Amino acid sequence: MKPISLCWQSEGIMPAAEAKISVLDHGLLYGDGIFEGLRFYGNKVLDLEQHLARLQRSAQALALALPLPIEGIRQALEQLIEAYEEDQGYLRLLVTRGLGNLGLNPSHCPRPQLLIIVDQLSLSSSSAQEKGLHLITSSIKRLTSLGLDSRIKSLNYLPSILARLEANHAGADEALLLNERGYIAEASAENIFIETDQGLITPPAIDGALEGITRQRVINLAKRVGISVQEQSISPYDVFNAKSCFLTGTGAGLLPVASLDGRDLQQIKTKLFTQLQEEITAYIDDQIRQ
Ligand code: PMP
Repeated sequence: MKPISLCWQSEGIMPAAEAKISVLDHGLLYGDGIFEGLRFYGNKVLDLEQHLARLQRSAQALALALPLPIEGIRQALEQLIEAYEEDQGYLRLLVTRGLGNLGLNPSHCPRPQLLIIVDQLSLSSSSAQEKGLHLITSSIKRLTSLGLDSRIKSLNYLPSILARLEANHAGADEALLLNERGYIAEASAENIFIETDQGLITPPAIDGALEGITRQRVINLAKRVGISVQEQSISPYDVFNAKSCFLTGTGAGLLPVASLDGRDLQQIKTKLFTQLQEEITAYIDDQIRQ
């Protein structure tokens, strides 16, 4: 039986289905807030420091005061994991602007709110892992310097949601968002890598990508085993000409790509992809044991 999802709020820990936020919270009214998605194994949150650092950068960029000092957030995570009593799971940590009035001015929201939800989450089916994902190029653009900075992990996900709707309507698994210059930014909820004869290439944050924690882990692991990684602009042309392509995310892990816009890519699971997957599994085992 699936364990009951729990939520940490300042009032305490309760079943997530019973946790409440105000209808006047600007996280709900305006998407004014930030979040992190994390995984834990045993009582160890994977890459916790990197997630907390990204949370702080997102908060800083939105002039959002974190409701607790980082040490307090760490303790809240520990308490929730202990109460959940499972040996692994997924954590969703949100900071909303908090209770305000119906106007959007954040200066009327004196107390940001912290919520942490724990649940089981599997974002990749075994068929996606085996056969690869079918992608489309979305008509929705990920604006870079002209819009919201993609490095902010904000609660406003409408471009991603619209892109995913397009993928659903096309019978595809996931969508790629291009930026205003026509270069690939990322997928709706994952970063993208292509593999070429020269090594791996992933778009830089300046092209509209989130600074993904899994993306960084793949970069570090690849470099450690002597594979070159470039942060460089890529377009659909580069995907069609690549040896292979894969997506990365905390929820999804590493996902091979089978096709883009109905065209099969050259290979699905290359030797390098399998090697990176093994390296990641070894990294996780290593982290748990520490
Ligand atoms: N891009 C977007 C838009 C995302 O929502 C996510 C998932 N958090 C990612 C990339 C992957 O980031 P991470 O590896 O930190 O989960």
